Amino acid sequence: MNRAWEPVIGIECHVELKTATKMFCGCRNEFGGEPNTKTCPVCLGMPGALPVPNAKAIEQIVRTGLAFGAEIPAFSKFDRKNYFYPDMPKDYQISQYDMPLTVGGIVKYWLEDGTMKQCRLTRIHLEEDTGKSTHAGSGDGRIAGSSYSLLDFNRAGVPLMECVSEPELHSARDAVAYLESLRRTLLALEVSDVKMEEGSLRCDANVSVRVAGTTELGTKSEIKNMNSFRSVERAIASEIARQIEVLDSGGRVVQETRGWDELHGVTHPMRSKEEAHDYRYFPDPDLVPLAIARNDVERWKEKLPTLPCERFERYTGEYGLSVNAAAQLIDNIPLARYFDEVVARSENPQQSSNFVLGELSRLANETGVAVGDSNVTVEHLAELVALVQSKRINSKIAKELLARMWEGGGSPNAIVEREGLAQTSDPSAVERFVDEVLAANAAVVADYKAGKTNVLGFLVGQVMKASRGKADPALANELVKKKLSS
Ligand SMILES: [Zn+2]
Repeated sequence: MNRAWEPVIGIECHVELKTATKMFCGCRNEFGGEPNTKTCPVCLGMPGALPVPNAKAIEQIVRTGLAFGAEIPAFSKFDRKNYFYPDMPKDYQISQYDMPLTVGGIVKYWLEDGTMKQCRLTRIHLEEDTGKSTHAGSGDGRIAGSSYSLLDFNRAGVPLMECVSEPELHSARDAVAYLESLRRTLLALEVSDVKMEEGSLRCDANVSVRVAGTTELGTKSEIKNMNSFRSVERAIASEIARQIEVLDSGGRVVQETRGWDELHGVTHPMRSKEEAHDYRYFPDPDLVPLAIARNDVERWKEKLPTLPCERFERYTGEYGLSVNAAAQLIDNIPLARYFDEVVARSENPQQSSNFVLGELSRLANETGVAVGDSNVTVEHLAELVALVQSKRINSKIAKELLARMWEGGGSPNAIVEREGLAQTSDPSAVERFVDEVLAANAAVVADYKAGKTNVLGFLVGQVMKASRGKADPALANELVKKKLSS
C-alpha cells in the first residue's frame, strides 16, 4: 500500500549585492566586460595583498535582515572557507561560518489565490563571489590539448549574500512563491538587481520527503543548476516525484547533490556524500571581527521602505483589490508609490487603481513615459477620482479628461469648470435631450413600439450624443424607456 508523503524543502539563495565596488577591494562591481579587466592584487589573491571590507555591503545585509525581522548580533566575523578550485584564485573564499551578520527572521509570501504563508530564515551571511570558468574543447580535460578551461576573475570578490531558509516549504509552488517574495523584497530594498539570467540570483533547493504526519526529516538531496523560477518549480516537483517513487518501491534515498536537466525535465546525480567537501573553516586572520553599532541598526530600521508583503496585505485586505491588481502594482515600485499617494488623497482605492492600472498604464506603455514622470500629478488624479465618485462626470468624460491631463491639460476640476463638462444629472435637462431625440427619430420609435426593443440602445446613444456625452447615462436610459412606454 502506498503511504501519503509530505515533501520538505529548504532553499539556499546566493544574491550578488549592488555595490559600486567589490567586497574587499576597490575594483568595480559590474556585470560583464572584457575578461579579467576588473581585477587587482586583492581579488586575484596575490601574496601579501590585504582585504578591506565594503561597509555598504555590510549595511545591505543588515537592512535585508531587518526587513525580514531577523536578529542582528552585536558581533560578527569573517572566516576562510578552504577549497581547491580554479575559480577562486586564493584557494579559499572569505565567508562567514558561525557568526553571520543576521540570524533568524521570517519571509512572508503569498500564493496565487491570495493565501499568505511564511517560512523562517536560518541566517543571512556575507561572502565573496567566485570567478567564472568556461570549459571548452571536445575532450574530457584529462588529456592535454583535448580540452581547456577559461577563467574570468571579474566576478571574483563581488559581494554575495547567502540567504538560508529553514526546511519549512512543502510544495514546489510554495518554494517559488517564497523565492518571488524574496526577490521582490530585495528589489524594494535596492540591494540587488536579482536577475537569474545574469546570475545575480542563484538558488539551490534541499528536497526530502517524509511520511505525512511525522516530524523527522527524510534523507535530502540538494538540487543545483536551476536558471529560472520555472526550472526551480519543475526541478523540485520532479525530485519530489522521484523520491516518492524510490521510497514506494522499497528503496532508500541517497544523500547527494543532483543537477537539473532542463531539456529532459529530470534531476541527475552530480556528486554523493562521500565526496562532500570539508571546508576547514577558520577565522580570517586578515580581517578583524565586526562590531555592528546599535545606532546604525536603529537608523537603518527606521528608513526601511514599504515592503512588498505589507503592500500586499493592505491592497488585498483594507483596499479590497484583486490579487492580480495588487501584484501588478507591487511589481512596479514607482507605480505602487504613485498609487499610494493618490489613495492618500482620494481615499478611493478601487477607482484609483482602475485609473492607474487601466488608462494611465495604457498611456504609459503607448508613450514610453512612466506614470510617475507624466503630466498627471497625484493631486490631479485624486481630483479626477473625486469627480467620478461624486458623479459630476461620467466614465466616458473621465477617459477624455485623462487623455488631456496626460497631454499637460492640468487640473481636471479647472477643465470641467471651463468647458462645462459636468455631467447632467438634472432630469429636466436630460428630458429635453430625450424629447429632441424621440421627435427626430419617429421611425425608430415606431419600430420600438412594434416590438423591436433592441433599438433602445441606439436611442440612448443619440441622447448621449445630443448632450455631448455629458448626460448621466443611467438617467438617459431610464427616461427614454419611460417616454417610450407612455
Ligand atoms: Zn580587486
